[in-house]
Amino acid sequence: MSDECAFCQILNGESPATFTYEDDSVVAFMDIQPITHGHMLVVPRKHAVLMSDVEDSVAMRAFRVARRLAAAARASLGATGANLFVADGEVAFQDVPHFHVHVIPRYPNDGFGLTFPPAYDRPPGRAELETIATAIRGAQG
Ligand SMILES: [Zn+2]
Repeated sequence: MSDECAFCQILNGESPATFTYEDDSVVAFMDIQPITHGHMLVVPRKHAVLMSDVEDSVAMRAFRVARRLAAAARASLGATGANLFVADGEVAFQDVPHFHVHVIPRYPNDGFGLTFPPAYDRPPGRAELETIATAIRGAQG
């Protein structure tokens, strides 16, 4: 729990939100600055900043709920696709320091897109992929 956290303020009832899902460990509510029609956030009740700080079972619940809400947006809003997005850390565009999963319903020509860095056009060779994978395999807890 953090007094300064905008999501904890919502969870405490100190700030308003429009909810689409609630259970004992996660809630979901409408993003107040939606990227697309029906953009929602799935938020654990317990304050944690980064994805790695969230208990496994709660993180899995958040993704299960995100998947369910993406399907509900397809059924109710006419979305024809969805992006699930986690901004894990400021460098990854995390704006609220309380872990959350974005559910972004998608529609044809909705204007949302991805920008890739220039190196995307020069993919690494197999040897470099092996080096990177070795580092990652060695760092798993
Ligand atoms: Zn919080």
